[in-house]
Amino acid sequence: MPSTNTLNRQNPNDRKLIVLDIDETLLHASITKLDLPLDYKAARTFIYKRPYVDRFLSYCLQNFHVAVWTNASAGFAEEVFDQVLPISRHLEFLWSVEHCTDPPESEGCHDYKIKDLSKVCDLNFGLNNIVMLDDTAEKLRFNKRNLIHIRPFFGDQTDCELLHLIKYLEKIRLVDDIGNQNKQNWRQELVGANTAFEYDCLVVG
Ligand SMILES: [Mg+2]
Repeated sequence: MPSTNTLNRQNPNDRKLIVLDIDETLLHASITKLDLPLDYKAARTFIYKRPYVDRFLSYCLQNFHVAVWTNASAGFAEEVFDQVLPISRHLEFLWSVEHCTDPPESEGCHDYKIKDLSKVCDLNFGLNNIVMLDDTAEKLRFNKRNLIHIRPFFGDQTDCELLHLIKYLEKIRLVDDIGNQNKQNWRQELVGANTAFEYDCLVVG
């Protein structure tokens, strides 16, 4: 597929754009085999889908423009979206590490390349209309206001993060400026400021 899909977009502002990370957000890829049901064996990695990822992607496709941006290689990203999460044709773009930016030298040594959303704005999505999902906040440090920072997934089969996210996205997807929406305490917002976040899957689902 092309790295940028502009074929199906009628009006880029009719729905918000959600940009999804892959590793530890939608799935866990491990070089060692885990004692879990395996979803896919890539060349050098065992891939385990996050619980409810298919339901989550279906929700996103119905309510957002959807794109993917990973710090992994283009080959890995394309294999995942061909073989594991086969929604490539519905994506606005599927970007990999080649689209990431080196940290400024003035910041010293950083482990992560940066996903700079100004590149996405070149595709006619203003920052007010973009929300990004990532388990590593440092990668979005140029665009913290657009980030929903989620818990990383390493194989926990009781993980409900994506169900919680559906509920939260449903709360914010129609606001005028999704970038200006404070998303730092998104879990607490689901249950109220004075209540501990103790949802289980049944409550959220
Ligand atoms: Mg990640």
